[in-house]
Amino acid sequence: MSQYRGLKQRAWECNMELPKRNLVLYTFGNISAYDKDKGVFAIKPSGIPYEELKPEHMVVVDLDYKTVEGKLRPSSDTKTHAVLYRNFPGIGGVAHTHAPYSVAWAQAKKAVPIFGTTHADHCTHDIPCTPVMNDKEIKGDYEEETGNLICRTFKTLSYIEVEMALVACHGPFTWGKTPEKAVYNAVVAEELAKMALWTITIDPKTTRLKKTLINKHYQRKHGGNAYYGQM
Ligand SMILES: [Zn+2]
Repeated sequence: MSQYRGLKQRAWECNMELPKRNLVLYTFGNISAYDKDKGVFAIKPSGIPYEELKPEHMVVVDLDYKTVEGKLRPSSDTKTHAVLYRNFPGIGGVAHTHAPYSVAWAQAKKAVPIFGTTHADHCTHDIPCTPVMNDKEIKGDYEEETGNLICRTFKTLSYIEVEMALVACHGPFTWGKTPEKAVYNAVVAEELAKMALWTITIDPKTTRLKKTLINKHYQRKHGGNAYYGQM
């Protein structure tokens, strides 16, 4: 029996969460689950519709993009996932969707402003948007450069406090300590993008949430003295 069976099952379950949450159509999107000890991740195969997807279809790849197990071609975004695992130590999953509200902000090349406490509950900053990739990078190793672009955007930002990013002209990538958290963050990012759009539609001059409220909401969920939810 494959030593990656559990990892593939987990990656499959997380991928199947995307259509369930209305975050993807057709073959859009992909999720991977990382096994740090083995240095490999299981990812959705390229171009297989979700209705046909099975756990055994998941492709196991190492951080040098080599397929370790699986007959199908891994997702075309595999290199982006690998770059994030290499650069963001401690993350255990990456999710990518073309969910429409997140994509709308990415296409407008704008960060999603932190307007309210729902945003602050999950993330201490605007959801950043990368710069548009230059032509040399586009013609080069495009998917690897997509990962590099995200990493450069996080030079001055904590990937632990902000587990989501928009790639300009493309869409959201999210991550988390576990693949389940990466999916959760994809759902949250879409909801925050939707809320922010409606907010500026009602009042384009809306200002960002003030620091004290950001800190209060983030800390009560994530700080050392967190008291949100059940202990
Ligand atoms: Zn994409």
